[in-house]
Amino acid sequence: MSDTMVHLISHPLVQHKLTMLRRRETHTAEFRILLRELGFLMTYEVTRELQLTDVQIQTPLKTMQAPVLAGKKLCFTAILRAGMGLLDGMLQLLPSARVGHIGLYREPKTLEVVDYYFKVPNDLSERFVIVVDPMLATGHSGARALSLLKEAGADQISFLCLLACPEGLEYIRKAHPDVLIYTASVDEGLDDHAYIIPGLGDAGDRMYGTQ
Ligand code: URA
Repeated sequence: MSDTMVHLISHPLVQHKLTMLRRRETHTAEFRILLRELGFLMTYEVTRELQLTDVQIQTPLKTMQAPVLAGKKLCFTAILRAGMGLLDGMLQLLPSARVGHIGLYREPKTLEVVDYYFKVPNDLSERFVIVVDPMLATGHSGARALSLLKEAGADQISFLCLLACPEGLEYIRKAHPDVLIYTASVDEGLDDHAYIIPGLGDAGDRMYGTQ
């Protein structure tokens, strides 16, 4: 697998909070707070290459040329439902970003990924789209979400997750070699139920207290 498509976010704050999140003893309220904080912190990394342009401003002392964001505007797109947890923190950092939602489930018999909800801004080609889902497990849902976004016009997309595994990364790399993936960890692999090992369990259940 090429490493150029995977950015590991090794910042100590991210790694520390991820460890807290993984722990079995971390309950719903704290889990949600940590997810929001991680969404906030990880967005620094995903937006590192955003373009800047200089504008003239006046400080209390002098006129100067100072950088402001330029180029494509942002669209955060959450894969339901666990993506919502990271999205909160992302929007705290960049409240003017547009937001898309994609609902997907796996058909139990065929295991085919089915989309049941897709709502995104209609100017996707003019936006840098950041897809967000805490867990990149098999990669099937992620790849489907990326295909739907491309069909809707997106041509600059990154994928932000908390945890990935080699199987999921390989699947996305094959289906969407143009998409950069940001993750705080690449875990060992998947168990028989497609859970990431050691992982953190079911992110949606832990977030919402469903089991
Ligand atoms: N989704 C989760 O919530 N957890 C996993 O480990 C894999 C997919």
